[in-house]
Amino acid sequence: MGNGGTLMDANQELVANLVKKVLDELTHSSAGNHQANSGDGLFDTINEAVEAASVAQKKLIQLSLERRKEIISALRKAVLENNEQLSALAVSDTKLGRVEDKIRENILCATKTPGVEDIQPFAVTGDCGLMLLEYAPVGVIGALTPITNPTGTLINNSIGMIAAGNAVVFNSHPNARVVSAKMVQVLHKAIIDAGGPAGLVCLVRVPTLDTAKELIEHPKVNMLVATGGKPVVNVVLRSGKKAIGAGAGNPPVLVDETANIRRAAQCIIDGASVNNNIFCICEKEAVVVQEVYETLIKFMQETGKAYLLTPEEADRVTKLVMTAEGKINGAYIGKDVQIILRDVGIEVNDEYRLAIFRAPKDHPLVWKEQMMPVFPLVCVKDFKEAVEFAVKVEQGNRHTAIMHSTNVEHMTEFARAIQTTIFVKNAPCYAGIGLGGEGHTSFTIAGPTGEGLTSARSFTRQRRCTLVESFRII
Ligand code: NAD
Repeated sequence: MGNGGTLMDANQELVANLVKKVLDELTHSSAGNHQANSGDGLFDTINEAVEAASVAQKKLIQLSLERRKEIISALRKAVLENNEQLSALAVSDTKLGRVEDKIRENILCATKTPGVEDIQPFAVTGDCGLMLLEYAPVGVIGALTPITNPTGTLINNSIGMIAAGNAVVFNSHPNARVVSAKMVQVLHKAIIDAGGPAGLVCLVRVPTLDTAKELIEHPKVNMLVATGGKPVVNVVLRSGKKAIGAGAGNPPVLVDETANIRRAAQCIIDGASVNNNIFCICEKEAVVVQEVYETLIKFMQETGKAYLLTPEEADRVTKLVMTAEGKINGAYIGKDVQIILRDVGIEVNDEYRLAIFRAPKDHPLVWKEQMMPVFPLVCVKDFKEAVEFAVKVEQGNRHTAIMHSTNVEHMTEFARAIQTTIFVKNAPCYAGIGLGGEGHTSFTIAGPTGEGLTSARSFTRQRRCTLVESFRII
């Protein structure tokens, strides 16, 4: 392990001090020492939070769009200024992911989440006059956020929802309470400092499933946004309110015989190991045609970042990371590969990011969303079988799929068959959310309800204004 142990100890001490400091601050703030009259966005009850958000939203829509843009700029700036602390806290609070990847996640959300420009109106003129379509705020949004991306989702949702003229009350994952509270305090302060109203971004101090239920049922909450697994998406869809559901995935990466294999090997390692595989978009299993299967594995090993498990080691790791009931063992979600391997007696150096293994088609880790850097590669006869199998393992989530190929017909065929919201070609998964790829970012990818990569416009209601007869300049 070289000096990895010492470095890790020093980092752990740094992070422990940081967590203690933030917890002290939070306790202090709950004792009533808020910014003068403005609070800090944290509330003891859902009702208090929703009431504050409702007042704030009414004030926001009185402000000019220019002022709203200034608020959005202030949010972006505050995230970038506090990024390192927030990222370290995200890892220490949730025990998931990697600090350097959280830093990248937060930069991405701060810089590539669309703002007010996303709600440009649409106009039609003709013989009958003018029709103007505007994207109006929905009011107060209740947002349930995942443990996997506590900072990214809060940043991304806050910017999009406020840009659209809304206020938001978050109910974060209970095990991301500390970092979510800090995140809301940072965002809330940025809004106040930019001259915006208090209460635009709110969070209940101790989020639980009960507070989630209260938020969902609160009469002043006009829209719900759930980012998480299938159960929470189903809960908001049953609420009777307008709801956006961003659910789970199990993204396959398909590699055919025409791919640039060395490049594919590097891209798969980068994508499947980012944040220790906790992003919902991460490659979760590879489906590789027989002709290039062994070459891909060899090239992955040659990077020095992928440790190839023997069949016997793969069995031991599988037994470790899955429970007797066939569920993923939560204790290993989002952990570094060194920790997982150490617990089955394998020591690898700190350069490694991923453990890979040759997996039969029915291996449980091919079918489960493992969210850890243990990565199965399945060998298939040819492209036709690859498409059929990849579609099956995606399981109709319609979330994300990745492909490495230089055959355009193959690309089209796979994209048409798998029907995912995000389809990435010849790049790591995260190019599909704008990291090293074109287009805006989103950390609420709404496959089930169809908004796709949500942005300000997703958090609006459409209103039409019609003027008959005149008003044309041609
Ligand atoms: P989770 O579903 O356990 O929790 C998400 C949020 O929903 C949390 O705030 C949680 O407290 C709340 N929640 C869970 N069950 C609930 C219920 N019955 N009633 C009310 N609230 C409930 O998910 P997680 O473990 O925090 O995050 C990981 C999951 O989220 C993975 O499946 C991942 O694929 C998915 N995810 C999807 C996206 C996307 O954009 N599609 C983004 C991030 C994560």
